[in-house]
Amino acid sequence: MSAKPKFAMYWAASCGGCEIAVLNIHEKILDVDANFEVVFWPVAMDAKYKDVEQMEDKSILLTLFNGGIRNEENEYIAKLLREKSQILVAFGSCACEGCVPGLANLRDSRQIVQTAFNTVSTDNPKQVYPMTSYDVPEGEIHIPKIYPTLRTLDQVVDVDYYMPGCPPESHQIAAVIDLVIQVLQGKAQLPPKGSFIGVGNSTVCDECERRRNVKAIASFVRIQDRASELDPSLCLLEQGIPCNGPATRSGCRARCPSAGAQCIGCYGPAEGVTDYGARLMSAFASVIDSNSPEEIDRILDGLVDPAGQFYRFNLAGSLLRAGRSAWAKEKV
Ligand code: SF4
Ligand code: SF4
Ligand code: SF4
Repeated sequence: MSAKPKFAMYWAASCGGCEIAVLNIHEKILDVDANFEVVFWPVAMDAKYKDVEQMEDKSILLTLFNGGIRNEENEYIAKLLREKSQILVAFGSCACEGCVPGLANLRDSRQIVQTAFNTVSTDNPKQVYPMTSYDVPEGEIHIPKIYPTLRTLDQVVDVDYYMPGCPPESHQIAAVIDLVIQVLQGKAQLPPKGSFIGVGNSTVCDECERRRNVKAIASFVRIQDRASELDPSLCLLEQGIPCNGPATRSGCRARCPSAGAQCIGCYGPAEGVTDYGARLMSAFASVIDSNSPEEIDRILDGLVDPAGQFYRFNLAGSLLRAGRSAWAKEKV
């Protein structure tokens, strides 16, 4: 039996990008191996839920949990890993705030299943739909029941730390691993419970090197419609590109604006921001150059996807929690 502290990683409703981001820390992954015993990581090694069920409570030191809670399996494993882990980290935007899978909360689960199994691009001539149980010669098989909405990890279990990003930047993952190793060696202390780790405490704008001067804009346009005219050193928002930097937490070194694209908000609400979309609306409103309601309407029409603009990553974790009423309407 290894004396090393135990490490686990799990993906619930997620895309797998967070797992790849962990592998992307390159040789730092050897530090994980040197300092931890990896006991559960379904995407990287064979693992059975019963092995985790048999572990003693709190026997896993650190669990990185990515993905939102979309079905009963996700919830069961979230609760199981909470029981077995000393430190449970909501890892990545899906676990922290719902991310793109959380946008499905704009529809109920029946519509989602219909969209997946019955569209013009779906080859499903026998109209086969998922069932929660099915008899086969070998016995009855079960498929986890989909829930009416996607929930964030902390809407289901107690979370110790949050590490946002879609996915978290690899240099930030490496820094957090270093911190935990230093804590194990008695050289550092963990931050207070509930802290955001591997991030900054200001906004993407504070990390962005683009210069700012005008504070008024007369139109919003999609970046692909103005790409050839953009000043590469000037703030994108001031050029009419709806950049989410003012409301978004720092920590990525303003990766997107540095590369010529607007921030779309994957690090979630900046420190002190209660509702991401509300803060961003306020930031956009403050730079609109008009007092005329008609003119303001015309400028806002340039935001072609308001739900995606203001809540692409944050809908499930927002004050709106769109679709929460679906819990009352649908039988779980
Ligand atoms: S946070 Fe982004 S990269 Fe990570 S699982 Fe969710 S969608 Fe994928
Ligand atoms: S709005 Fe965007 S481009 Fe402008 S300073 Fe902020 S992050 Fe940079
Ligand atoms: S600039 Fe914005 S969208 Fe891009 S990585 Fe940073 S937080 Fe995410």
